[in-house]
Amino acid sequence: MNSQAPRMIQELPNRTKIVATVGPACSDLETLTKLIESGVSVFRLNFSHGDLETQAKRVSLIREAATLVDRPIALMGDLQGPKIRVGQVPSPGLEVRKGTNVIFHRESLDAHADGDVCHLSCTYQGLVDDVLPGQRLLVNDGAVRMLILEKRSDEIECSVTTGGLITTGKGINLPESDLNVEVLGTRDWSHVDWAIEQELDGLAMSFVRRAEDIIELDEGIKSRLASRGGKMSRLPIVAKIELPKAVENIVSILKVADAIMVARGDLGVELDLARVPIVQKQLLQTAHDYGRPVIVATQMLETMIHAPIPTRAEATDVACAIVDETDATMLSGETAVGEYPVLAVETMRRITQHTEEYLEQHPAPETPPLYLPESDFWTAALAHGVWTIATDIQAKFIIVWTRKGHGARFLSQNTFHVPIIAATPEAHVARQLQFFRGVIPIHCAEEPDSLGDLARWIDDWLIEKGWAQEGDSSVLVTGGSIGRDTTPNRLAIHAIGQSH
Ligand code: PGA
Ligand code: MN
Repeated sequence: MNSQAPRMIQELPNRTKIVATVGPACSDLETLTKLIESGVSVFRLNFSHGDLETQAKRVSLIREAATLVDRPIALMGDLQGPKIRVGQVPSPGLEVRKGTNVIFHRESLDAHADGDVCHLSCTYQGLVDDVLPGQRLLVNDGAVRMLILEKRSDEIECSVTTGGLITTGKGINLPESDLNVEVLGTRDWSHVDWAIEQELDGLAMSFVRRAEDIIELDEGIKSRLASRGGKMSRLPIVAKIELPKAVENIVSILKVADAIMVARGDLGVELDLARVPIVQKQLLQTAHDYGRPVIVATQMLETMIHAPIPTRAEATDVACAIVDETDATMLSGETAVGEYPVLAVETMRRITQHTEEYLEQHPAPETPPLYLPESDFWTAALAHGVWTIATDIQAKFIIVWTRKGHGARFLSQNTFHVPIIAATPEAHVARQLQFFRGVIPIHCAEEPDSLGDLARWIDDWLIEKGWAQEGDSSVLVTGGSIGRDTTPNRLAIHAIGQSH
């Protein structure tokens, strides 16, 4: 039977991107290759877990896998920021029971139980100074809950209100406390240095509170890159929105960040969980208004950490984020430590495919970003032109020539329902474009001589992949010069496979 025959032709990538967190469950070449084939565009290296030597091995394996699959793949480092974590807990962890007391010590110690009282430490020594009795202390994304009863000079005593298992490195949230932690600590800066050295494609910043936090990171990155020399002058920054303060300051944050992440893990602990779905919707809308991409993260297919199928609610969650026009959905534990990393990505891809098919049949009207700096007015006009032509001729593709990625990023923010093939002479730009909805980046190692050359080259590539047929209509657009042609801003209707 035909339907049983192996599919030789690669499927067209989904428009919504998949970000997968790397961890022990997927740190071998075979799994990483399968993850890319199944639809991962961006890998997240979480600096909260794993030492840099382990991370470096992962970086080289991901690059090897990307070469095998022949696709630009982005690497995003995730700076831990001022996340407070539980100190050493001997394996297999410590079970704390409801109604018992826990003492957090200022000094590091190996966690242990002494009768009914558990003794723990955490990664922030100032914790004891910053908290007050009556405030909540939550462990492991709020799974284990405590109330602070008493504060002494070098320890705090808490009463457990929801019990559970505590293991090394689990996150601690203090929603009511005013903490004096630095947004970027020494450890974070060493991760920034490492990310630059490893030539990662972007950095996510945890526990952002205000625009100044992003600016501080951006300036630190710029000065490091400048002293290093080389092509890159900055790195894209993804602001993780996981504190109520960041939700309040979202507009100023969007003006300086390259993208945001709806980091629902911490957000759902720091904020009343009942508010999170609407906050997500509002963040997606505001980010779109300012032309910034969004990653929706955490617990998207959580059940798949231990089961081969997600819950109905999880499948619906992924689809809803896509309907609300997220640029990417993210997997965390599912790919990092789960039992079914490849299946989780395949499942996410299938949900995405069906949702996008529906959206294609029910296209939304053109919705360009509302608030733009004046420097973007021309690009906006060009994007509007592309939209009109693509709709009128029912284009199968938009093909854009982009040096720094600006044109492709802009087109992506107009939520087209046809793929945007973005050809760029810069390998790092091709990788960075993987964060953007609808963009299929392609690195042209050899710059074409003219627009006609580019068209021929892309046409062959599309036909070879089985994604296009001769005669399919497309819109060709260049934001800048190409080869010997120095004319900026060209827009043309082009039939695939026919000379241009
Ligand atoms: P994390 O961030 O996985 O690094 O905590 C995401 C989140 O909080 O949702
Ligand atoms: Mn978080």
